[in-house]
Amino acid sequence: MATTYDIEVTQGSELDLRLNVKNDAGEALTLEGYKLRGVVKHRYGDTAAYIDLKPKVFTDSSASPAITAANGLIDIFISGSQTSGLAVGVHRYDLERYNEEEINGVLIPKKLITKNSKRSCPICNIYSFKSNDDVYMSKFDCCEKCYIQWVEGREERWKTGWRPKNG
Ligand SMILES: [Zn+2]
Repeated sequence: MATTYDIEVTQGSELDLRLNVKNDAGEALTLEGYKLRGVVKHRYGDTAAYIDLKPKVFTDSSASPAITAANGLIDIFISGSQTSGLAVGVHRYDLERYNEEEINGVLIPKKLITKNSKRSCPICNIYSFKSNDDVYMSKFDCCEKCYIQWVEGREERWKTGWRPKNG
């Protein structure tokens, strides 16, 4: 399929997206007469889904010209409480259109990337992490650099609450 989107979400923030699905020729893919489904999973093959995206066909009859299901617009919404339950990292999502005669398969198979809402290290205040830092952040509440400088080999002291004075 011609249309692909990586979706980025931040833990705790809601996601409200309108996707425009197109065929390989770049024209709107009609959703007329189809139902939609879509989920977020860890891997495509997994049977268990984290989140049902509940994709909806967007139409607007008051627009001029009217927006119909033939325009291929899909709305998806993930609430803040749903994104806060997602682990930081890369997940998979897909969207399908289907009807009784036709399981048309996947419209959009793509990555959903969850980011940590805490993006600055409370110790050194440096913003924006490498993906490595997320591991240290969730385990020690600091970035990798601070871990090496202050925590490594002295994990016990850290866990009892000791912190460097000047950060
Ligand atoms: Zn740091």
